[in-house]
Amino acid sequence: MKNLQDRLVKRTDIDFMRRSLPGITVYMCIWPLLSWPLNYHEAHPVFTHTFAAILVIVGILRLLAAYSTQFIYAKYPKLWRINILGLSLIHGASLAALLVTALSFSKYTDMVLPIALIQATIISGAVSSLSPKPRFTQLYLSFLTVPIIIASAFHPEYSYLSYLFAVLWIYYIFLANRFSQEYQRAFHIEVTLSDNQKKLETLTITDALTGLYNRQYFDRTLDSQWDLASRSQSSLSILFLDIDFFKKVNDKYGHLVGDKALCHAANILKEITQRKSDMIARYGGEEFAIILPSTEHKDALILAENIRKRLENIPLISDDISINMTVSIGVNTIIPNNKSSNMEFVDNVDKALYAAKHTGRNKVMSFFNVAKDEDQ
Ligand code: GH3
Ligand code: MG
Ligand code: MG
Repeated sequence: MKNLQDRLVKRTDIDFMRRSLPGITVYMCIWPLLSWPLNYHEAHPVFTHTFAAILVIVGILRLLAAYSTQFIYAKYPKLWRINILGLSLIHGASLAALLVTALSFSKYTDMVLPIALIQATIISGAVSSLSPKPRFTQLYLSFLTVPIIIASAFHPEYSYLSYLFAVLWIYYIFLANRFSQEYQRAFHIEVTLSDNQKKLETLTITDALTGLYNRQYFDRTLDSQWDLASRSQSSLSILFLDIDFFKKVNDKYGHLVGDKALCHAANILKEITQRKSDMIARYGGEEFAIILPSTEHKDALILAENIRKRLENIPLISDDISINMTVSIGVNTIIPNNKSSNMEFVDNVDKALYAAKHTGRNKVMSFFNVAKDEDQ
């Protein structure tokens, strides 16, 4: 759950930053775009230029903060957040100050209505773009509207702006909450879908009984490891394992105990096969296969022997019965070249397993010995 909350916070941070980018540009341009055609820069040069400068400078700082996300966010998320949210609030407050100043001095009265028009429009844009962060949006909307509501309430000509902005304020807060609920719902649906997809992908490659990989995934992994070994010209080893006389376990103790015995064997394979790149699969009923990338033949034989001994020495204890099992193992190793094929590689390890079975079971057989015998 905490993980989900962390993911939501991260997502809202990044979405907030991305969504505010177009707004920053508008904040920087809107006042010059309005004041120049209406000649405010000549009628009220100090007012016009001061606010133009403030809005542009804060806008540049916001753009810098947004584009520094990749450097700052991962290490100092709190600092990043304070920076991004703080500057955004300052930008909004500067815009509010524009209207409040126009309302506060009679010489600026002619500018009140055009600026009020900008404010109303800008605030409505902010409602949807800031929705990933509901509490901040409420604060932001209040920063932008409350000073205007108060300043206009005492204005002889524009006191109606006070209730107009009060209504807008309530309306926008309501809308912001709705947008943010929808945003969060969409996020949760997206996370659930992607988690379910991951679970489904895991299920399709996993053997349900033992939790090892299944045959299909084994085939895919062998293909990819074959290509890797071929490119890097490294040794690829493979083990085929088959539990000896497993039918007897089922016949004597029943299928449920037989299933437990298979899990016991799988756990021993997991315990002994430690490298991350190694891959253990349940190949069929009581047959297992292990792919060992970048592993020399002698090391693969040592690993196989460890597995064989451990299974022989550690019985499955289930209720009051103890079952000893043994395993026969075929081992093959190759550095793939353009004459070799992975089908032949698998056929050969199967031959080694077959030879282990037919020369007494409970043993490890190298395909190289089988091949030697075939040659003689
Ligand atoms: P060998 O030493 O020649 O390998 O003899 P074996 O008895 O192990 O070989 P065989 O192939 O005749 O028998 C394999 C048995 O494995 C038969 C089957 O009932 C059992 N088996 C296969 N899959 C499962 C399973 O999922 N659960 C259980 N309990 N038994 C299984
Ligand atoms: Mg078998
Ligand atoms: Mg068997």
